[in-house]
Order: sequence, then structure tokens, then C-alpha cells
Amino acid sequence: MNNVSEIFGCNVFNDAVMYERLPEATYNKLKSTIKEGKGIDRSIADEVALAMKEWAIEKGATHFTHWFQPLTGITAEKHDSFIAPTDDGHIIMEFSGKELIKGEPDASSFPSGGLRATFEARGYTVWDPSSYAFVKDGTLCIPTAFCSYCGDALDNKTTLLRSMDAIGKQALRVVKLFGHTDVKRVVTTVGPEQEYFLVDKKMYEARPDLMFCGRTLIGTMPPKGQEMDDHYFGVIKPRVAAFMRELDSELWKLGVLAKTEHNEAAPAQHELAPIFTTTNIASDHNQLTMELMKKIADKHGLVCLLHEKPFKGVNGSGKHNNWSLSTDTGINLLSPGKNPAENLLFLISLAAVITAVDKHQDLLRISVATAGNDHRLGANEAPPAIISIFLGDELTGILESIEKGTHYDSTELIKMTVGSDIIPYIRKDNTDRNRTSPFAFTGNKFEFRMLGSASSISDANVMMNTMVADVFKDYADRLEKAEDFKTECINIIRESVKEHKRIIFNGDGYSEEWKAIAKERGLLNLESTVDALPYLASEENVKFFERHGVFSRNEIVSRLEISLENYAKTLHIEALTLIDMMNREVIPAITAYCDTLCKAVFNKQRINPSLDTTVENELIARLSAANSEIYHLTAELKMQVSKAEKIEKEYEKARFYHDHILKTMEDIRRYSDSAEAVVSKNYWPYPSYGDMLFRI
Ligand code: ADP
Ligand code: MG
Repeated sequence: MNNVSEIFGCNVFNDAVMYERLPEATYNKLKSTIKEGKGIDRSIADEVALAMKEWAIEKGATHFTHWFQPLTGITAEKHDSFIAPTDDGHIIMEFSGKELIKGEPDASSFPSGGLRATFEARGYTVWDPSSYAFVKDGTLCIPTAFCSYCGDALDNKTTLLRSMDAIGKQALRVVKLFGHTDVKRVVTTVGPEQEYFLVDKKMYEARPDLMFCGRTLIGTMPPKGQEMDDHYFGVIKPRVAAFMRELDSELWKLGVLAKTEHNEAAPAQHELAPIFTTTNIASDHNQLTMELMKKIADKHGLVCLLHEKPFKGVNGSGKHNNWSLSTDTGINLLSPGKNPAENLLFLISLAAVITAVDKHQDLLRISVATAGNDHRLGANEAPPAIISIFLGDELTGILESIEKGTHYDSTELIKMTVGSDIIPYIRKDNTDRNRTSPFAFTGNKFEFRMLGSASSISDANVMMNTMVADVFKDYADRLEKAEDFKTECINIIRESVKEHKRIIFNGDGYSEEWKAIAKERGLLNLESTVDALPYLASEENVKFFERHGVFSRNEIVSRLEISLENYAKTLHIEALTLIDMMNREVIPAITAYCDTLCKAVFNKQRINPSLDTTVENELIARLSAANSEIYHLTAELKMQVSKAEKIEKEYEKARFYHDHILKTMEDIRRYSDSAEAVVSKNYWPYPSYGDMLFRI
């Protein structure tokens, strides 16, 4: 590989490139737009476009695209070439400021949840100068927001930017009150750890369920799963290592700070963690990461599965959204410092997060609610569906003493030794790790672990930002009026802890006991997407989002509709795929194998009637029974699907898919898996779990 520092960001129109290529005044204007999050001065657009075009052409680009994130969960791009004809029959390469700032894709086929009827299908993409443009596959990609003719957000970026403005504004008020008057901006930072599976492409192509649904709908566990924990952090296989090397290098070229690559708990499962950055960029980069994972896997004869639960019985994949807040002067509001008990800015920020998470459990749950993630949450490997916060003993102790008004003594907790003099003392972290918590404080940030591996991180961060903005707003309103600042600060922390401490839970989030405790505490337990989604459009939530200008009422209603629709569509495709697999391959395979067994019995008896045929007979009986169940359940599933297709109301439809169709699919799976366990390998139509998970 080339020198990493040389290739890093080589395909990005970043600050250094802008500085080198833009006139000084233009550069300064653009830079202050990016730094302070203010609107762009349109007069500079032509100059920026010209410099961008020339740079991109030098990088081999012939096209440009407005790169955006419609509500499909993935990115969209429509390519235009730079060419423009001249009078003498030649062409020139052109790209104007207008083309940079605004695009107008015919966007009638993107989800809008009723915000945009097809007859007024206009959608606009608008340049986001805070995320650098880049060249990918010969195309200059310009990160843009996507909205309707009336300005309604139709994408994941617009609302994320709005939520960042909201929290930036409120947090700035609080920070200034603490005397940090030099601070101009507070931003949220995010480092999303991304989990994924790699499977062999040939095996993938032999599995319609993986191809159409991204997850296996049937399949029995191999004799060995993940029980030995030998995959986690294990030596990376050469083929996977080659994939990871290329992935890192391609991500680096795009300025993505890919940092850590390792094997995860399940066989064939891996993780990539980048170094954290501003939320908006982290979100763009996560989209690029997912896209490149798929593309590069393909080059290595592999397929990257981003589904939350590709294989039943082994861990699923999620994303850990590490979230914090920092000022443009470098203060991390969630950094406890040497003496957290005395660090009021830290404590009040901590109190704000605790309050926000307790008040908005529903929204956090909704932000991770998808059909795919339902298979993972609460499955004893991923966090439960109940939201709670892990703080660790030290911080819990500090908050308790503030609540009670007692003194907190932190001296014994500071040092830690491993019991050998040769190994140096290390400072003990404020928190230990608690892997079972959905929302854990991890030293200087919170780690929200419920996100699904396939989704954009935008939803979760929109919720986080807006929730905490709302609490900061209340705090700032009080603090601005306070007679004695310090006393009011302590009062706020004390009251917040008292009122919201039920959300703090340092124990085992996987235990049954916790479910009971959580219920007693009145915490929400929204087990499925269909249970969670209706909370989104509650009057309280609509007002809450409107208060901060993050979503309008219409936008919320449309998002709810899109989510319900996505849920139903996902299950619809899964049901049809399963029906097809059963009717055309599994039932015939079982029949064929039974037929072979019957012939064996027949032949044995012809040769010598006293030969033992118990095995064959038993297998024939078992498989015939299973096959008959599969046949009838598949017919039943088909009927249920026709019924579901006729349901008009989105919620009822999604509910029907959850309550009936999902259940029948699970029943079919049970019989199919029991058959797979005894049908000869030569007859089974699909690669087994063992082959897919261990033969890479
Ligand atoms: P683990 O696997 O133990 O959770 P990792 O080191 O893999 O930890 O991931 C931690 C993530 O948190 C990294 O992406 C890191 O960049 C990110 N992170 C660290 N500090 C911050 C911060 N202040 N704000 C947001 N993310 C952060
Ligand atoms: Mg983590």
C-alpha cells in the first residue's frame, strides 16, 4: 500500500485543497460558513464550482452528482456529465455555481409519505458545504440535502442538520453561562462502530433469502457456533484481511477515518470503527462506508451482509453510536476531567442526557425501529428493547451524593494496579464496560448501542440532539435568571437526578429480573417496531419537534407512514420469498429424498425381506409429516399475504404482518429446519449455515 498519509483524503475537496485553489476572499467566506454553520454567501458559488470542477477533472472525473440520502436508508445519485457543446461542434467541460448549489432530480419515486404527490414531483437537492465534496468512480459527488417544493425534508440529512442547529444553539447558551465566552459553536460528535458479515458470493447467490431479503429465512445451526468465543478478536483470515486492507485504503482516499478492524463475536462477523467526527460528516461517512463495504466485498468474491440478523442463532449486527458534545475551543462537555464531583459543566451535561433519555425513551426506541432490528433487540446478544442508562459506580455515586447533599469522596477510586510491579499503574476509568446496556457512559461519551447495522445513523442522532437540546433549553432558561449561578446549577442537577434516576441501571440488561424491575419503574418496553412506531406522532412529540424546528407536523406524519410502509413491505418480500423457496425447492427436495428412501426400502425388501428398514421408515414418516405441515402452512401464508395486501390503513397492515405473517413464517421455518437436519446434504437445495459461516 502507498504511504497512508499521502493517500488519505486524496479524493476529497477538503480544506487544504480549497485553501490552495480558491481566491483568498472566497476561501475565507466558505471557511466561515463551514466553521460557524451559517448560510452560504451565494456570490462565491461560481468560483467554488470552477475550482471544484478543475480539481475533479484532474482526478479523472467526467461527471458530477448531487449525492443525497432519501428515506430509503441508502444514498442516491444521478449523474450529469460536465460536457457542454460549443458553436464549432466541440465540447467544453462546464460546471456552474448554480449547478453546485441546487439540483432538481425527478424524485417522484423516492419515499415521501404523502408529502409530495406524483403530479407535483419536484424535489430539490441543495449543497451542504459542511460536508466536503469528493470524487468517487469518476464522478464528483456533492453532499446535498433533499427537500420538496415546499421545503419539507425528504431525506436524512436535512433533519440531522436542523437537530444539530437546535442542540448547538441551546448548548451554547449553557456553555456561555459557565463563563466560556470565547466559544462560538457547540457541535455533536459521533463515532459509529459498524458491524457486518462476509459470506462467499457463490453461496450467497444460491440463497434466494439472502439475495432478496438480506437474511436467511431458514437454516439449521452447524455443530459449532460462537460458543467457544474463538472468533472474537481472532486472527483475521487472509481473504478477509485482503478485503479489509482494500476497504481501509479506499475509505482513507475519501477522507473517512477508518481506524479499527476486527473480528466480532459471531463467525464471519466483523467490525469497523472510525475515529469520531462531527455528526453530519460521521453520518455521510457511515453511508460511504456501507456502500464501499458492499462494493469491495464483491471484488473479493464475497458479499457484505449489513442486515441486523442474517443468521438465526448467531449474534446479529448493530451499530454503536458513540455520541458527545464539544465546543469549537475543544471542551468535551461529557469529559469528567480529573475531578468529576467538582466539574459542574460536566455534571449538568450528564444530568441533561439522563433527563432527555428518560423523557424520550419512546423516541430513542423508534429511532432504531425496523423490521430487521426487531430480530436483534432483546435477543440476548444485543441490548433489550427497554431503554436504560449505564453510568458505572463512580458517577452514580457522585449523582447520589448531589441528590442527598452529602460530600463525595473519590480518592480510593483513582488508581488501579494489576498486581505486578513491572506493569505500570493505570488510572482507573470512571466506568467499567457493561455490554448489556443499550445506552452506556463510556468515559467521555455515551454509547447508544441499539442501532441496527443497516440503517442510517441519522435518525438516532436527530433524536439524541433534539432531546438534549430541549433539556438544555430548560436549563438555560433557568440559569439565565438565576441569582446565584452555582446554587441553581446544583439545584438543577439534584432535581433532574431525583426525577429521572429510574432510567439509570447498572446491572445485567439481559436478565429477566430487569424486565420486572423496569416495569415497576414505569419504563417503556416496546418490543417490536409496530409497538413503538405509533408513539412518534403523539401530540407531545409533534410539539417537541416543532419547538426546535426539527420536524414539522406534516413531516412527522409522513415519516410515520414511511416507517410503517417499510415494515410491511419488508415482511411482504420475506413472505413471498419464503413461499417461493418452500414451493419450488424445499418441498420438492424433501419429496425427492423421501422417494429415495422409499426406493431403498423397496429394494432392500426385494433382496432380503428380513433386512432392517427401521431407519428409512422412520425418516420417511418424519419427513412426510414435516413436509405436509410445510405445505399447509405455506398455503396459509399465501392466503395471509393476499389478505394483508387488501388492508388499506398503514398501521393495521403493519400490525397484521407482525401478528400473523411473521408468526406463520416462523412456524414454517421450524418444520423446514427440522427437515434440513435429517435430509441428505446432496438433496438440500441451499448452502448450510455451516458452509456459509465457516467456509470463507
Ligand atoms: P468499543 O469497541 O470499546 O466500544 P472503540 O474504540 O471500538 O470502542 O470505539 C469507540 C468509538 O468512540 C470510536 O469510534 C471513537 O472514535 C469514538 N469516540 C471517542 N471519543 C468520542 C467523542 N468525544 N465523541 C464521539 N465519539 C467518540
Ligand atoms: Mg462499542
